[in-house]
Amino acid sequence: MGLHDVSEQVLTEDAPERIGPPVVLLVDDQAMVAEGIRRMLQSEPDIEFHYCANPSNAVQIATELKPTIILQDLIMPEIDGYTLVSSYRQNKATSNIPIIVLSTKETPNDKSIAFESGASDYLVKLPDKIELIARIRAHTKNYLTQLERDQAFIALGELQKRLKKSNAELQKLSCQDGLTGIANRRRFDSFIQKEFLRSAREGATLALILIDIDYFKLYNDNYGHLMGDDSLYKVAQALQQAVQRPADLVARYGGEEFAVVLPNTDAGGALNMAESLRRAVESLEIPHAYSPLCGIITISVGIACKVAVETASPSELIGIADAALYEAKNAGRNQSIVHWENAGGGG
Ligand code: GH3
Ligand code: MG
Ligand code: MG
Repeated sequence: MGLHDVSEQVLTEDAPERIGPPVVLLVDDQAMVAEGIRRMLQSEPDIEFHYCANPSNAVQIATELKPTIILQDLIMPEIDGYTLVSSYRQNKATSNIPIIVLSTKETPNDKSIAFESGASDYLVKLPDKIELIARIRAHTKNYLTQLERDQAFIALGELQKRLKKSNAELQKLSCQDGLTGIANRRRFDSFIQKEFLRSAREGATLALILIDIDYFKLYNDNYGHLMGDDSLYKVAQALQQAVQRPADLVARYGGEEFAVVLPNTDAGGALNMAESLRRAVESLEIPHAYSPLCGIITISVGIACKVAVETASPSELIGIADAALYEAKNAGRNQSIVHWENAGGGG
């Protein structure tokens, strides 16, 4: 343990957090005092002792050294010790380091100013060796325990953040169809239920579009299931991209069937949407040489449109759209048919 003044020394790298034996920084303009303290600590090989003779550098040195305890002189030429104690407290890196004030005076007033400035303890110079060592160890232990707790707390906070993120990802996955990447049937069911109730509550028209790929069994039978899957993906993506409003939902309803929910949309608007969906699939121009229609993959579209009544359920709307889809198939496929009801019924 040598006595060297580190007040002019600038450490460039961040010293790692220390969870271990005491690291003492003494700030005192008198080398005599430093020598006295050094001797007292000589019998304790695990205590690391540093000495700063220039109080103007003390906060910076403490920031870089990260001592577990500061021994602070009160009367120094440039800065008084009280001011310095406040400065440690205001500096983030040193704000919690325990500070033992070393004073030549012992009046209640001096002690009270020291504690008000932020000192953790007060000893009269030169202190008793046993007392000094005991206090250095006690303050260090408290401080390091608190540091560990703070770090554990921060780690916990980060863990919670990560958990929240993976929960959100899980939530998203549980709503997503694995093959096509769009919303799945479960998401569709809860979405349409919510929108159905909203429609009933607000008296707004709710539109549902059901889509079925034409002659898709023939496609699978001739091109194979893998090509079938690939085409399902492309159709789903085309449908998703054709839908503009964030309030709308495109979902895989099952097999080669898709559903689009359009809140606040009347029959005319829904038919327009259905036709752009149909054209979007057409313009993919996915070859389907075995389709009796036109050599590419096409879809048939059934649309239901009505103001929901609270006593009914979404399955009523689905039934109407399904009937319209059946009509579109029977009428020759690759077309859209809408069934709607005004608030007063009919259509
Ligand atoms: P229609 O024009 O009357 O709708 O004729 P279709 O052949 O499309 O109708 P059908 O309901 O008989 O056949 C649907 C086919 O869709 C059956 C199956 O081969 C195919 N299919 C359903 N789900 C999937 C899937 O996840 N992947 C693949 N590759 N094919 C699927
Ligand atoms: Mg089908
Ligand atoms: Mg089909």
